[in-house]
Amino acid sequence: MSEFKPVRGMRDLLPEDAQVLRAIEEKARVVARLYGYKEIVTPVVESYDLLSAKAGEEVKSRMFLFKDLGGRAVALRPEFTASVARLVASTLRNESKPLRLFCVGSVYRYDEPQRGRYREFWQSNYELMGSDRPEADAEILMLTNSLMQLTGLKKYVFKVGHIGVLKGLLGRENVDEKVQNVVMQLMDKKQHGDAVALLERSGASRECTSIIRKLVELKGANIFRVVDEIKTLVDGCTQSVEAVRNLGEVLELVSKSGCTIDVTVDAGFARGLEYYTGMIFEVYVPDLDIALGGGGRYNRLIELFGGEPTPAVGVAHGMDRIMLALQLQGGFEKAGEQKTAVVVPTKDELIGEAMKLAQVLREAGMTVELEVMGRKMSKVLEAAGRRKATFAVIIGEKEFREGAVVVKDLAKREQTVISVGKIKEYLKS
Ligand code: AMP
Repeated sequence: MSEFKPVRGMRDLLPEDAQVLRAIEEKARVVARLYGYKEIVTPVVESYDLLSAKAGEEVKSRMFLFKDLGGRAVALRPEFTASVARLVASTLRNESKPLRLFCVGSVYRYDEPQRGRYREFWQSNYELMGSDRPEADAEILMLTNSLMQLTGLKKYVFKVGHIGVLKGLLGRENVDEKVQNVVMQLMDKKQHGDAVALLERSGASRECTSIIRKLVELKGANIFRVVDEIKTLVDGCTQSVEAVRNLGEVLELVSKSGCTIDVTVDAGFARGLEYYTGMIFEVYVPDLDIALGGGGRYNRLIELFGGEPTPAVGVAHGMDRIMLALQLQGGFEKAGEQKTAVVVPTKDELIGEAMKLAQVLREAGMTVELEVMGRKMSKVLEAAGRRKATFAVIIGEKEFREGAVVVKDLAKREQTVISVGKIKEYLKS
């Protein structure tokens, strides 16, 4: 039989990478706790109808879609928001608002595999339901900043915009909603020329396309000046003016909170998912031109799923990409390595005693590897040294009869005879 490999786009995470991924997950949980987001666990498989309702063509065309044995059209989740919105529209519909929910896990998209782009990847996801106020949007930006900070990431930048600026202009021109969605997807892929051409073909006025051409050029780190410039440019289009005013409010709150994040306002910024209605954002680091996280406001999704009208704002962080960015920046700061003891019986008759002692040490919280290969002592010690174990605890017949064992410090190459009763304290010190 030929050698089995992971399916294209899928990866095995070996211990070192798995440890970093889980450490990032832990940080994400810390952030959830600090901001009061309760964790929920939702299914990896959801109905295709739910997942495709407002995902946008791009995500829709990349879903792992199949029929289950009961003939239902289902898919592997490409994101968490649809599942959370389903819950808030049904089981959680009577929960008092605001509702802060957190989930973390793997998501699946049939993307073209390349660096930082996989078909199975991990997201930490936060949704704040029930508030339409700018402080809710600001909170999502701030918690994203907290996560990036906690992971030790440096030099990350927030790209922020507001979908209402473009939607306002297109709505005023009565551009069909389907065309609007395609325009947003083209903008998301930075195909601005194609977006404008499509608008021209769809009958948008010259004034509108001229404003859009100028908008896509309008971006910068001097955020309040860019906000003012957008305001001037869309003057007269009530919905767009309202959108840019709202964006200004959100950014002002973030800045008043004392949270010092690097922000670039980008007037021509759009995102692939169709459900956004307000502020949108992504996070980048200089060495990677793919986003580490993204989110925004979506006020109509829960209603669309049959729930009460519920304004909402959320974010998904790409944990694999955070890991990649950390590697590019010199690695994840690991917590101190746990001390490991290798417990070795010198003869088969002492295996039971070795297992008993190993268990006592584990109950005291130590990592203990029992010798299970029946190797010679020299081989065991050599292998333990290679794996950077801290101690070898050797159960020898003579010492054990006297209630003691030999403890070898593998780094210092020193050994001591310790009574079994005192070994826990000795190893811990
Ligand atoms: P989205 O909601 O589509 O913007 O996705 C949120 C985040 O998930 C992105 O900012 C990325 O960090 C991450 N992400 C999206 N697609 C992939 C992928 N194919 N591989 C790895 N991470 C991804």
